[in-house]
Amino acid sequence: MLLVNITIFSSTLVRLVAKIRHLADRDQLTGLYNRFALNRKLAQLQQLHSRHQQPYAVLLLDLDHFKQVNDQYGHLTGDKVLKHAATLLKQSIRNEDILGRFGGEEFLLLLPMTEQQAAEKLIQLLRQQPLQLGDTAIALTTSIGIATAHPNGAALSSETMLQQADKALYHAKANGRDQVISFDAVH
Ligand code: GH3
Ligand code: MG
Ligand code: MG
Repeated sequence: MLLVNITIFSSTLVRLVAKIRHLADRDQLTGLYNRFALNRKLAQLQQLHSRHQQPYAVLLLDLDHFKQVNDQYGHLTGDKVLKHAATLLKQSIRNEDILGRFGGEEFLLLLPMTEQQAAEKLIQLLRQQPLQLGDTAIALTTSIGIATAHPNGAALSSETMLQQADKALYHAKANGRDQVISFDAVH
């Protein structure tokens, strides 16, 4: 009887630990990976690149003029728009791709074994599928900055990859938003 109780207790504990781990990795609003988990996943990709020359790409996505959505429709609707964007993005990526909320209205997409990516497809998707709330359609545009680790390229740190994606994103914003810019194209 004692053995049965211990077995039930430990399997409950194992499930509980798995659940806590899962929750610790998630963003509460969107259910996507949070920044903490993204940093860990990015470090893993960085190691695979430096040890085995496996390429990967880092896409930093930032919703355009999102402050205006909050100002016009309120913060709760802003939250719904963020969830909507997360759902659309999640539906359009591969199983092995890693999508998370990097913070605020920014998402990070990590693409293992990828040098060429169809980032343009993502901004088209968000642009073409507004969030419909009753009679109101809230349309979105997005800017994306990309950093790529090439197979024979230098082993850049995770931090440098993020900085490159952020610089490319800055160019996309300055260039008029609603577009994708790769760090390789501007440096
Ligand atoms: P830009 O095109 O330059 O990116 O302009 P922006 O308005 O999107 O950027 P800015 O950084 O000025 O504003 C980001 C806004 O995102 C401000 C902030 O209130 C909002 N925001 C951040 N996190 C959340 C959230 O969890 N929920 C809601 N509703 N809004 C959020
Ligand atoms: Mg932002
Ligand atoms: Mg923004």
